Amino acid sequence: MAFNPASRVQDYLVFGEFGDVNPSITDSSTYTFLSPERMEELFEHEIEGCFLYSRHFNPTNKYLASALERMEDGEAAQVMASGMGAISTTLMTLCGAGDEIVCGRSIYGGTYALLKNLLPRFGVTTRFVDLCNHDAVRAAITPRTRVLYCESLSNPLLEVSDLPALAAIAHDGGTRLVVDNTFTPMILSPLRHGADVVVHSLTKFVNGTSDCVAGCVVSSREFIAQLNDINAGPSMLLGPVLDSTRAASILKNLHSLHIRLRQHGANALYLASGLQALGYTVHYPGLPSHPQHGLLARLINPGYGWGGMMTLDTGNHNAANRLMTLMQREKVGYLAVSLGYFKTLFTTPGHSTSSEIPPEEREAAGLREGLIRFSIGLDEDVVQTMERIERCLVEAEVRPNAGRAGN
Ligand SMILES: *Cc1c(COP(=O)(O)O)cnc(C)c1O
Repeated sequence: MAFNPASRVQDYLVFGEFGDVNPSITDSSTYTFLSPERMEELFEHEIEGCFLYSRHFNPTNKYLASALERMEDGEAAQVMASGMGAISTTLMTLCGAGDEIVCGRSIYGGTYALLKNLLPRFGVTTRFVDLCNHDAVRAAITPRTRVLYCESLSNPLLEVSDLPALAAIAHDGGTRLVVDNTFTPMILSPLRHGADVVVHSLTKFVNGTSDCVAGCVVSSREFIAQLNDINAGPSMLLGPVLDSTRAASILKNLHSLHIRLRQHGANALYLASGLQALGYTVHYPGLPSHPQHGLLARLINPGYGWGGMMTLDTGNHNAANRLMTLMQREKVGYLAVSLGYFKTLFTTPGHSTSSEIPPEEREAAGLREGLIRFSIGLDEDVVQTMERIERCLVEAEVRPNAGRAGN
């Protein structure tokens, strides 16, 4: 039987204090104890169902974490105030001064900046490699490497990580595989392919309404305990706590994620196929022309589609800007960063979310200046959306084959 993350989430039932179908939202920073001895005990070890202080854990955040833990088939999870909070505390749990990280070169700009600019100040250095070149990945791992880091589907180039192969390389090298699964929740289950830790920005598809910022980490019980340890855990001590009102609203949205994913995926496949048929340079992992389409087909949980992310290469920066301005005017969607919203969002990552990456590294990784990244929305009439995009392409004078083919 294939793993079915949506059924796992569906079977997570919580009965509220009064039998409420949506349990009461924790409105407390601190919790009473019936005896001083019980409090002392909790400082020594975690006690199931017992709470101390909301920076550590709180019931509402626990509910969301439990649902995400089931979705990712992990043993334990912790929710955070942002995806970056999840990523930075995970890396600080795994690495100390003198340690190294090996990371894919096509990666979210904030993660790149963390690895390139901030962590070296604390003695943690990173080698960026082409994750499709497994020999290069193997060669970059040294005895000091603590983490092999990748995105399941990379941002913004939509390269598919060969998770079982990368997990094997990491484990052979005595290191751990950390996977950012933000682009493919439910579609891919990295822990089931050998990853040790999964991180998400819940801000994107999981929440789906672009109304808050949040993140999570899913892993073994042991890792989450280390992450959240009262005396030394980066999550406890750096303190990126998710507000419980937000945790409650994200949990409600998580329960419709599978339905949204199908619509995002169907719309993206329709638009990508249509644009490709017209001769435009599009990348979408659901297209048979995508270099890792076959690999992704082997790794995905069936039934959720190929995701909502697509790129279109317009050939140059000015053409991209003309096209995006027209598409916003014609109500294709919004010119905005981020993704996973019910409306279509588009940006040129080279000039926005990946601008932290220097131009020569962007070019080497294939992140060209005319590249537009789309997060395709839940449009009911996608045929009309296609017609609008076509009209905008003509008016913006973006010609078929404008972008270069390749990854
Ligand atoms: C947005 C994003 C992040 C950062 O998440 P925040 O919630 O904005 O902190 C990390 N990784 C990927 C792939 C993202 O798209």
